[in-house]
Amino acid sequence: MDIQNVKGTHDVILDEANAYEYIENVMKAIAESYAFKQFRIPVIENSNLFQRSVGESSDIVRKEMYTFKDKGERLITLRPEFTAGIIRSFVNNKLYATKDLPVKAYYVGPVFRYERPQLGRYRQFNQFGIETIGTDNFYHDVEAIVLGYSILKSLGLENVKVKINTLGDLESRKNYKEALKTFFEPHLNNMCSDCKQRFALNPLRILDCKVEDDKKIIADAPKMTNYLSSESKNRFNKVITLLKEIGVDFEIDDTLVRGLDYYSQTVFEFHYSSSKGVDYGAIGAGGHYDSLVKEIGGPQLEGVGLSFGIERVYSVMADDGLTGFESAGLDIYVMPIGEAEQEIGFYLTSNLRQYGFSCEIDLSNSKIGSMLKKANRLQAHFAIIIGEEEIDSKKATIKNLKTQEQVKIDFDDLINYFDKAFQLNDDHHECHHDDECCCHKEKDVDGHHCCKHHKGENE
Ligand code: AMP
Repeated sequence: MDIQNVKGTHDVILDEANAYEYIENVMKAIAESYAFKQFRIPVIENSNLFQRSVGESSDIVRKEMYTFKDKGERLITLRPEFTAGIIRSFVNNKLYATKDLPVKAYYVGPVFRYERPQLGRYRQFNQFGIETIGTDNFYHDVEAIVLGYSILKSLGLENVKVKINTLGDLESRKNYKEALKTFFEPHLNNMCSDCKQRFALNPLRILDCKVEDDKKIIADAPKMTNYLSSESKNRFNKVITLLKEIGVDFEIDDTLVRGLDYYSQTVFEFHYSSSKGVDYGAIGAGGHYDSLVKEIGGPQLEGVGLSFGIERVYSVMADDGLTGFESAGLDIYVMPIGEAEQEIGFYLTSNLRQYGFSCEIDLSNSKIGSMLKKANRLQAHFAIIIGEEEIDSKKATIKNLKTQEQVKIDFDDLINYFDKAFQLNDDHHECHHDDECCCHKEKDVDGHHCCKHHKGENE
């Protein structure tokens, strides 16, 4: 039977997986440099968490959640986003009682939404994000936007466009929603069924409708800015002024309301026009929230969050030729010629690995020529050949696959030999036995990768 992956999911493998790892590591490193700390929360949560937080009027809660009953008859949902779970964790662990508010959390991992699969839209995808919890200070809204902007710039994405809007405080939103209801009521019969539901649950969400005919009606709808309290207006002006001073390229979009009900005040999205001109939708988004912590059982504390879709960030990077990642090559490829030689080969391989060299053994028992071809495919630096003669003399034949030079080295002296060989070699690096090694991790302090991991970067 041919078993396919579940619709809307995708495998991230080989070079693409390297690219994802790189993207996530850059995001983590920058978030940590802004004093965010990692949170790892469960993939499954009690379903009512999302009903209460993300909101009954959101598409996510209305039709996109993977919800099921577990064997104990509990209603469980695969997380459709992280914010609600992070806040639940903040409340459950009583982090609000800390003297060090706001708590600054970052996270990365898969989320699940039963959406219609299309370009840039999956049913299981990955998010990286941050939450600053326990603050109503507008500086933290700006910090979240600047952090997102810096992350994208650090990934080499130069044409980032930030869209920003304000939803004002509760009172402003209440007045605005009433004005929207009055405006949309006579048009409702001509609008899509989603909009009819949104009208009843949260008319703000109508502004987010993507149906062309509805968009024409929406264009004449009242604007939020006319319903903002003076405090909310002031707050938004401060955000905008600061962003301009810092040099973030943004535009105000007064139809931006975001798909989740918990937002208030500042909301924003990151867009990117890649060189291929493909529109993947927002690559990141977020905003301020005022009552989420209370909603989930904590005290009245506000916060701000931001979340990137790793798949979409990867796609725009790939379009712009920024994903030239390849697996780091191997240090050593061990080639026992014959079954009898495999035992000593296996022993030597284990020893080399324990010492920190990346090492693979060829157990195919094939001809030396085909083993060498495989060594080259794996980008091995050295091959160790072990045949009868090598066992008799207790000396391995070592072939430098870059220079094709061959030497014979005592089995007991191999570690010493490779240690020196890699120290002398410019192309390699001080990785071995170095706790600070950044292979597969972040860039070093000079912004370089110490490995071949990020193609061309060190050249
Ligand atoms: P949201 O949690 O809806 O604010 O989304 C945050 C980010 O996640 C978006 O800006 C997208 O980059 C990404 N995203 C949202 N939905 C999907 C999806 N179905 N597939 C891939 N990425 C998504």
